[in-house]
Amino acid sequence: MTLSRNRLAFIILTLLPMLIVGAGSFWGNQRMLQGIADSVNTQERDRTMLAVQSAFAAMNDQLVGLIADNAVWQDAHDNIYGTPNEDWLIETWGVATTDPYYDTAYLVSSEGEMLAGFQDGEATTKTPQEYYGKDFPKLLQKMGSSNVERLEISSLIGTDQPGQFASIGLGRVLPGEVGVPAPIAKPHVLIFSRRITPKLLQHFSKQYAIDGLSLAAPDSTVSNGSILKSLNGDPVAWAKFTPRDPGSAARQANSFSAYAIVIGLITLLIPISFAHFRLAKLLQNREAAARLAARHDSLSGLPNRVLLLEMLEAQRKSNSTNPVSLLFVDLDGFKTVNDTYDHATGDALIRRFGHGLLNLTMPHDLVARLGGDEFAILVGGENVAARAEYLARQIISFAQKPFDLDGKIASIGASVGIADWTKDINDPAEFMRRADLAMYAAKGSGRNNWRRFTPMIDQDRSEDLLIASSMREYLSRDGMNLVYQPIVDSKTHAIVGVEALARWPGFENYGPQRFIRVAEEHGMIDTLFRNILAKAMQEIAQFDHIILSVNVSAVQINNQNFVSDVISASKRSGFPLKRLELEFTETNLISNSKVAKNLMKQLSDLGIRIGLDDFGTGFASLGYLREFSFNTIKLDQSLSQNLFKDTATQLFVQGTVLIAKGLSSDIVAEGVETKEQALFMNLAGCKNLQGYYFHKPSSLAALGNVMDHQIPQQKRA
Ligand code: C2E
Ligand code: CA
Ligand code: CA
Repeated sequence: MTLSRNRLAFIILTLLPMLIVGAGSFWGNQRMLQGIADSVNTQERDRTMLAVQSAFAAMNDQLVGLIADNAVWQDAHDNIYGTPNEDWLIETWGVATTDPYYDTAYLVSSEGEMLAGFQDGEATTKTPQEYYGKDFPKLLQKMGSSNVERLEISSLIGTDQPGQFASIGLGRVLPGEVGVPAPIAKPHVLIFSRRITPKLLQHFSKQYAIDGLSLAAPDSTVSNGSILKSLNGDPVAWAKFTPRDPGSAARQANSFSAYAIVIGLITLLIPISFAHFRLAKLLQNREAAARLAARHDSLSGLPNRVLLLEMLEAQRKSNSTNPVSLLFVDLDGFKTVNDTYDHATGDALIRRFGHGLLNLTMPHDLVARLGGDEFAILVGGENVAARAEYLARQIISFAQKPFDLDGKIASIGASVGIADWTKDINDPAEFMRRADLAMYAAKGSGRNNWRRFTPMIDQDRSEDLLIASSMREYLSRDGMNLVYQPIVDSKTHAIVGVEALARWPGFENYGPQRFIRVAEEHGMIDTLFRNILAKAMQEIAQFDHIILSVNVSAVQINNQNFVSDVISASKRSGFPLKRLELEFTETNLISNSKVAKNLMKQLSDLGIRIGLDDFGTGFASLGYLREFSFNTIKLDQSLSQNLFKDTATQLFVQGTVLIAKGLSSDIVAEGVETKEQALFMNLAGCKNLQGYYFHKPSSLAALGNVMDHQIPQQKRA
C-alpha cells in the first residue's frame, strides 16, 4: 500500500516534534522524557474517546436502518391503521423483541398514546413515557407530523432502571408507496430500542479497543470518560473507560538509558499515531459509512429503497436517453409462510428469493429490497421493454416453484408491475409510483400476474382514492343502503332467506365490487361491515323464519374484534345469531387458514351459519371443504349460466352436490336466470336457489310484501 501524501504529512508532523524532544532527552533531560510519555498518553486517550463516540453512533445508525425497513412498509401500514391487527403486531414486532437487534418495540400515536408495546418477547403495559422517561417526549416531538414524508431518527436514551441506557429509533409508519399519505393526518410512530448491556459493552471494548468500558449517570464524577449525548444534545450518560496510558507504562518499565526510553516511546508512538489517524479518517468517513449502511437492507444485503431512489435520481439528472424500466415485485402468500412456520423461515425465504432475483437479472441491473416482501428491479441495456416483460414472466415462474427452506416447504407466488421511464416522468418518485400501481393492478387481477403501467391504471387509482375519501366521509354521517335478494327453496320456491347486498346512495355508478375493494384497501371494511350488519339485522328481525346472509370480506379475517362486533350487533337488534349466515370466499380462508379456522370455530360455537361463497371459481380442494365444514356452499353464478353451454359444467355441478351432501353442507345455486337452470339445479340436488329468475335484489319496502305473503304457509323445517 502506498502512503497518501496526507498520511505522510500527518506522520511527519506528529513524529517530528517527538523526535526533537527525543533527541533532547537523549542528552539526559528527564523532564522532556515525561513530556513524551504524556503526549503518548494524551493521544491514546483522544483515540479512545473518539472510539467511544463512534461505537455508540454506529449502534444508533443500525437501529435507524431497522426502523426504516419496518416503518415504511405497506404490510405494516395495512395492519396498524383502522383496527390494528394484533396477531400481526405480535408476530411481526413482538416476537422479534427476542432477536438481538432490539429488545423493545412500541407503536404509538403521534401524541404518544401507546397502541402496542413489547419487550423481550412479551407484551408490556409499561408506556414508553414510563420506560424511557423525560427524554422520550422530546424525541417524539422531533417526529413532527407529516403523513407523506418519511422520517427516521435515533438517539441514546435512559430507561426506568437506574444506570440502564438504551439506543432508541423512531420512524413514521407510512404506506410502502412513495407519495401516498398515511390514512390519518399525524401518522403513528414505530419505536425500537436496544438496551446497552454489559455484554454489548464488552463487544464494543473488543471491537474498538476500549478497556473497561462502562456507563454511568451523566451527573456522576468521572475521571476518564466521554459524555454521550441524546439527539437533542442533552447528556445521557458517561462512557467510562480505563486509559491505557502506554506512555507512562513504558517510562516506568524502562530503567535503561534515556536513549532506550526515547526509542521505546517512539516505537509506541508510531502505531498509536497510525491508529489515531485511521480513526480520525474513519470518523470523517463514518457519515459516509452510515450512509452506505442506510442504503442496504440488513436482511437480504440488497440495496434498499434509498439507494434505488438515488440511482433513479442519477438517471433523471443524467438526462440520459437510454431507456430503463422498473419492476416492482410483491410476493403472494409470504404472510402464510411467516404464520405457518416462523420468522426465521420467513427471513430465509426473503434471502433466497432476493438471491434468485440476482440470478435472473444481468449484472448491470439493480435488484433492491423495498421492505417486507417487496422487491424492485431497475433494468437497463438493450431492448429494455421486452426484457422487462421477459424478466417479469421468469420471476413469476421462479416464485411459483416450491422453496425448500431447511426442510420447510414454502409455496408462494409473485405479482409484478412494470413501468417504463418516459419523457413525462420528471421525478423518480413518480417512476416508482407507476411501477407500484402496475403491481397493484397485477395483484388485483389474481395471483401470479404481471401488468405494465398505463394511464388507465393511474386513472383507476386516483378514482379509488376519491372513492375512499368520499366513503370515509359518508360512513361517518350515513349508513349504506341495503337491498335484499331472496333465496328460495328449490322445490317449493318459498323464500327461506335473503342475502343483504350493499348499495351506496348517490354513488350508483360504483357497484359494491368496486367500493368494497376500496374499503378493504383503505382500512374501512370493518366499519362498513358493522354498519351493514346492524342495519340488516334491524330490518330483517321482523321476518321470523328468514335466514339473513351477510357477506364478509377477505381482510376481515384479521379483525380481532370480528366476533364481538357480531355479538353486539345481535344484542342491539335482538336478531338471533342462529338466523345469521356469514358468507366467506375461499381466498380469505386459504390465505390465512390458521386464523380462519379459529374464527370459524368461534362463530359456529355461537350458532352462526357459515357459508362458502362463489364456489367453483377458485381452486378449493376437497380436503379444504372438509377442513372447514361449511353449513352452506354457494355455487358461483357462472355455473348456473354455463350449464347449457358445456356438459363439463353440468358434471361439475352434479359432482359437487354429491360431495357436499357427503359433508352435510347445503348447496345453493346462485345467478339462476331461467326456468331451465332452476329445474336442472333442483334435479341436481341443490337445496336452495337464488337469482333474477326468482327475485332481483330489491329494497325492503319492495320486498316486504312477498316475504309477508310467503312465509306463514311455507315455514322452514
Ligand atoms: P355476491 O355475494 O356473489 O352477490 C351476488 C351478486 O350477484 C349480487 O351482485 C347480485 O345482485 C348478483 N346477482 C344475483 N342474482 C343474479 C342473477 O340471476 N344474474 C346475475 N347476472 N347476477 C345476479 P352485487 O349486489 O352487485 O354484488 C356483487 C358482489 O359485491 C357480491 O357478490 C359480493 O361479493 C360483494 N358485496 C355486495 N354487498 C356486499 C357487502 O355488504 N359486503 C361485502 N363484503 N361484499 C358485498
Ligand atoms: Ca354473497
Ligand atoms: Ca356469490
